[in-house]
Amino acid sequence: MCGIVGVVGNKNATDILMQGLEKLEYRGYDSAGIYVSEGASKGRLIKSVGRIADLRSKLGIDVAGSTGIGHTRWATHGPASESNAHPHTSETARFVLVHNGVIENYLQIKEEYLSAHTFRGQTDTEIAVHLVGQFVEEGLSVLEAFKKALHIIEGSYAFALVDSENPDTIYVAKNKSPLLIGVGDGYNMVCSDAMAMIRETSEFMEIHDKELVVLTKDSISVSDYDGNALERETYTAELDLSDIGKGTYPYYMLKEIDEQPTVMRKLISAYTDEAGQITVDDAIVKAVQNADRIYILAAGTSYHAGFASKDFLEKLTDTPVELGISSEWGYNMPLLSKNPLFIMISQSGETADSRQVLVKANEMGIPTLTVTNVPGSTLSREATHTMLLHAGPEIAVASTKAYTAQIATLAILAKAVGDANGNSKAAEFDLVRELSLVAQSIEATLSEKDLIKEKVEQLLETTRNAFYIGRGNDYYVAMEASLKLKEISYIQCEGFAAGELKHGTISLIEEGVPVLALISNNEVLASHTRGNIQEVSARGANVLTIVDEAIAREDDDIRVRTVHPFLSSIAMVIPTQLIAYYATLQRGLDVDKPRNLAKSVTVE
Ligand code: GLU
Repeated sequence: MCGIVGVVGNKNATDILMQGLEKLEYRGYDSAGIYVSEGASKGRLIKSVGRIADLRSKLGIDVAGSTGIGHTRWATHGPASESNAHPHTSETARFVLVHNGVIENYLQIKEEYLSAHTFRGQTDTEIAVHLVGQFVEEGLSVLEAFKKALHIIEGSYAFALVDSENPDTIYVAKNKSPLLIGVGDGYNMVCSDAMAMIRETSEFMEIHDKELVVLTKDSISVSDYDGNALERETYTAELDLSDIGKGTYPYYMLKEIDEQPTVMRKLISAYTDEAGQITVDDAIVKAVQNADRIYILAAGTSYHAGFASKDFLEKLTDTPVELGISSEWGYNMPLLSKNPLFIMISQSGETADSRQVLVKANEMGIPTLTVTNVPGSTLSREATHTMLLHAGPEIAVASTKAYTAQIATLAILAKAVGDANGNSKAAEFDLVRELSLVAQSIEATLSEKDLIKEKVEQLLETTRNAFYIGRGNDYYVAMEASLKLKEISYIQCEGFAAGELKHGTISLIEEGVPVLALISNNEVLASHTRGNIQEVSARGANVLTIVDEAIAREDDDIRVRTVHPFLSSIAMVIPTQLIAYYATLQRGLDVDKPRNLAKSVTVE
């Protein structure tokens, strides 16, 4: 969570920090702050509760300098307040630091080294900067003090530290939390995410866990915590600034929903060979062929994408698929098969819970495949293999295009493996054609926005709770649809297997409770779900049906253009994304930045 940005040696430091924080705001947005140095011991520290816009309104035009660090926070320790907002300062305020992550042993450090110190807030972070200050007071150089602190601190962190007395250097270190260096001409930068630096540079340098970087305007030295110098090449990232703008859209979420047909087509071209056949790296196909069981590990929406892919993965690869919640598996690995393959799904490639599972899998020598949207991300770098989603940056906290791209990417994998194995269902499954039909189905649903908006406004205007129901793949879509609705509109919503309601949950159905039923093109499941609709209607529920047009009835509410049953989750989820979007708009809430959440969940 949280975003960090720092720059040394550029006279527009304030502007760079603020622009960077605006781009990083999706990562955390309960408070923010910057420190800008105008020269030795001449620094300005400005913090604000709320959004970057609130911070901006507190900045005077006179806040100018050439070195600075900034932070947008997602609180883990201590409420969102000005005193808990970063940057934090050491006891004498000589050192200034921003941090992303959680210092696990902060209480022990406080007791053992800092018992005489007074703290301004409640964060774990403040301990780190006091510790550096304390070691400098005891006679160490700044670098030695920072190294000593890094040897003591346990947990996850990305740090950027400035010595206000010598502000021509930024000290940087990371463990588990994302951070990378941006290489400028006559200045250098550090940031949580390349996207927030691309206005300034397209040349980057990776930092690995437990590495320390000393940045000046024209030098970058990387070392381990014992001071051994490390060589590191820079790389050029091809990111397009226009990808991260909202254009004419009021919200990123709507833009990203609308981009889904394009993403389907991009995936087709990314994963087809010259003959127009689906192709996936041989090593990845072999990794699946060698596995006797596939374990999909993920969190949130990615976890739901795993479920939506289970059926076709099993049918096309002839390999059983098991799902795991990353935060549950990281520290409690169940009994595994003899030849497992772990597939990690993560939009950002930085999800700390999934990273924890990946670290364990690597220790156990289990082959791994990361399915992610972000090339070069931690989960991509550390897994044996990577498949990219090609969805372009996803900024809205609520994931939409990444979810559908995850399912499509796994379908591509399943098809490639099935073809290699001579699986007859794979041979019949013309995925290139089917994905273009999916793109058309999405377009057809997107052209019904007004209808969907109108239905939502009638159904969800005042309700505090709702249910999505479905069977088979529709059940998995129901899980995702309810997550989408609750995370942004704050309507409490559960996704249920339609047949399971009567085993308890139906007692919650009373007059006016909205039940949204998903019915894709499967006659048998459809007739049973229709039965369940009768049961809830008889108890007063307000039912809205989302039905595949091939089996839709006159009185169904929203029709979805038919796609191959393996890919029905992609087509069926689109109306539910729009339902969440319009319900949230109707309530006057910030669609892109729901409360308490952050886009890239980099704490466990
Ligand atoms: N643990 C720190 C805090 O609560 C950093 C959180 C973050 O990564 O934003 O302030």
